[in-house]
Amino acid sequence: MNVFSVLDQTAARHGDRGAVYLGEQCVHTWAELRDRALRLAASLRAVGRPGDRIAVASENRPELVELLFAVWAAERVYVPINYKLHPLEMQQILDDSGASVVFASPKIAAELRPVTDVPLLTLALPDYENRLAAPPSAPPRDTDPASLAWLFYTSGTTGRSKGAMLSHRNLMAMTVSHLADFDDPDECCSLVHGAPMSHGSGLYIAPYVLRGARQVIPRSAAFEPGEFLDLCDHHPGSSAFLAPTMVQRLVDTGRPRPAHLRTVVYGGGPMYVDSMKKALKAFGPIFVQLYGQGEAPMTITGLRRADHLDAEDATLGSVGYARSGVDVAVVDADDVPVAVGEVGEIVCRGDVVMSGYWRNDAATAATLRHGWLRTGDMGSFDGRGYLTLRDRSKDVVISGGSNIYPREVEEVLIEHPDVTEACVVGTPDPDWGEVVVAFVVGTASAAELDAHLLERIARFKRPKRYEYLEELPKNSYGKVLKRELRERLTR
Ligand code: AMP
Repeated sequence: MNVFSVLDQTAARHGDRGAVYLGEQCVHTWAELRDRALRLAASLRAVGRPGDRIAVASENRPELVELLFAVWAAERVYVPINYKLHPLEMQQILDDSGASVVFASPKIAAELRPVTDVPLLTLALPDYENRLAAPPSAPPRDTDPASLAWLFYTSGTTGRSKGAMLSHRNLMAMTVSHLADFDDPDECCSLVHGAPMSHGSGLYIAPYVLRGARQVIPRSAAFEPGEFLDLCDHHPGSSAFLAPTMVQRLVDTGRPRPAHLRTVVYGGGPMYVDSMKKALKAFGPIFVQLYGQGEAPMTITGLRRADHLDAEDATLGSVGYARSGVDVAVVDADDVPVAVGEVGEIVCRGDVVMSGYWRNDAATAATLRHGWLRTGDMGSFDGRGYLTLRDRSKDVVISGGSNIYPREVEEVLIEHPDVTEACVVGTPDPDWGEVVVAFVVGTASAAELDAHLLERIARFKRPKRYEYLEELPKNSYGKVLKRELRERLTR
């Protein structure tokens, strides 16, 4: 089994239909996309061997779609690199993965060339285009489903990034689960790549290609809310994966729901109840929530569209229930499941779970135990099987012996009309062990926030300090960099 088959099937059925779009303009049909991928695959096969890692460092561009399928057709391993990383961080990933070549956009190539000795090919330039002159290779027929398809480097918000090894089977399980649980596109639909294609948006290429849905890449190569909404007005049956902060930016435009916007899958970080309510009011019931991580790509639990309708806060504040084909449990330190309502570590297993971290046996042994993936996230189930995520175990604040879950405090802060963003962390304290500090974007004073919190949550959870910022530091996937905030407090 090879994920290339999803393109093969669609090209056979819909060869002449538009496949890849730059903005509103069609750049390739499905037949052309397949042909280009197989020509590139032939050039990749000409050197090295199956299993070689092929790195790609680029902002969103149409070539990323053909490259992904070329790497699979050549039975190589796709290693996308977040284009916003520092060139030295990119080099760390190139080193760690042992990439034999890196494809980079002209912009990234200029930054990367001085720091790397890995052979570098610049997209759109003749050295890339010449590869398309080679005769196409035959599609792969006998790929072992367990062989590696994608090395997913974790975003490294809590430390050095590790490569989660994802096989063709893992990606097919993700694809099937997405189509079973979340979205039902066909050849009259589109996937608009608002978020970086090196992460969630790129992972979703497979399910949408399987159904023949257009791949739309914004001309800005980034997330511009106005441009994104225009594209969803133009392209039929649009779906997208967006980080919660991107959803908030769409709402802030004040624009109505675009005519063709069908589905927004949000996740990858907390969506606060208040923000979700505003999004539902602005755009209607088009939202689906996913909870996943690179180690179980896009697929642990989810809240479906219907779960958002007239939902109670407890449902909207949850990450939904187990995805099709995935077992999810909440366990204590001895791997014993805890009772309903009790908080423990979230673990999961299923065909979607990675086989381990690339060349890192210690991290693999600590993360995969008895066939279960330890997510590092804390959470609790309710009686209906809805999972509420607390925080990553490392982010829980222990103050005076009590556990305080930052998310709970953040949810309440964000409800205040004069707060637009909030992030809560713990910082060492001689008396309490740790105390709660809130970073706030907004105009509400500390006294007003204290009063607001006292009406809603226990006194001991209140921040001892408020720090005001213009905006919260985030990585390009929209994740708040808690580590950076903690470091500010100890500087
Ligand atoms: P990554 O592997 O970079 O996608 O990061 C995965 C982590 O993001 C998870 O382990 C969670 O801590 C967080 N995350 C993912 N989805 C959600 C969600 N729906 N709500 C809150 N946090 C999430």
